[in-house]
Amino acid sequence: MRSLLPLLLSLLTLCGCTSSPSRSYNYNTMNPMPPSNSPSKWAIALHGGAGTLDKNVPKELIAAYETSLNKALAEGIKRLETGQSAIDVVQAVVSMLEDDELFNAGRGAALTAAGTVELDAAIMDGSNFKCGAVASVKTVKNPIALARLVMTKTNHILLAAQGAEDFATAQGVTRVPNESFITPRRQKMLEEWRKEQAAKTTAASSEPDQATPNASRFGTVGCVVRDTTGNLAAATSTGGLTGKKFGRIGDAPLIGSGTYAANATCAVSCTGTGEQFIRHGVARMVAARMELVRETVAQAADYLVTKTLSPDDGGLIAIDAAGNIAMPYNSEGMYRAAADSSGMKIVKIWQ
Ligand code: ASP
Repeated sequence: MRSLLPLLLSLLTLCGCTSSPSRSYNYNTMNPMPPSNSPSKWAIALHGGAGTLDKNVPKELIAAYETSLNKALAEGIKRLETGQSAIDVVQAVVSMLEDDELFNAGRGAALTAAGTVELDAAIMDGSNFKCGAVASVKTVKNPIALARLVMTKTNHILLAAQGAEDFATAQGVTRVPNESFITPRRQKMLEEWRKEQAAKTTAASSEPDQATPNASRFGTVGCVVRDTTGNLAAATSTGGLTGKKFGRIGDAPLIGSGTYAANATCAVSCTGTGEQFIRHGVARMVAARMELVRETVAQAADYLVTKTLSPDDGGLIAIDAAGNIAMPYNSEGMYRAAADSSGMKIVKIWQ
């Protein structure tokens, strides 16, 4: 009998009949997550980038940012109150921010070293692990919409450069000339970046090419949502870093680095020096800490921002299955806003 005990225990475990902690989720792709047990509650967080945000910028510019963040938040709230799904809401909010030239996504995106615009975006549905992303697109008006189509119309996750453009043509999404993304403000930032680079060359600096002048690194947009059915979703869209070179792709379109969502843990959208977020797999790591170390979303997000990343790398927004929101950053500021069905509502740039 004693020799049969291990076999019996293994059989019971396989059947899920033991008293060990049961998992309420399934990480096999495409298996829908069970809905949360607190229906009707919704929550949303969004960001408009992190970086060195000079507090001495004109008051009007600060007010303009606040207005834009408020508008995007109001759009998300309206959609959540009418029962729209998390995935639809994150797409709509990010799309709106892409069209707003204050932010580094769509029109108003950061310029490459060559003075052009190359856009990255990703979207993920936490209820089924479906995700889609595009990188280095040059003529797609709303990259987040194309990322959603990669998710729904292909068996792939990430399409880049000409392939993504060809897919955009096949899908008939709105296209615009690359120049239409360019704004005088971003041209000025590129000029400043070029001057910094020239000064470094004169000083015979041995540093590698830097595409991260902190003063001009901000404005990426992202949104995370918990909808009224308990589903989570995340979306991120960016022009990347001012002065980026050689087809550089950042963290935003890389699932697990800049964007991630899983109902059982959290939805995350990151902003900052993409290379750092890629290196540390930040978005997935927030979820992993919740799953494996049993941290809350706030603890896990804080750990990544304060212990894993370096000062001034950036920040992230995260939301868990209960609608708890975390928005830590280690740069001077992060454009951000959040609201939930209890009436909580904040719009902030600095602490
Ligand atoms: N994370 C983005 C990138 O590296 C930039 C940003 O968030 O400002 O492409």
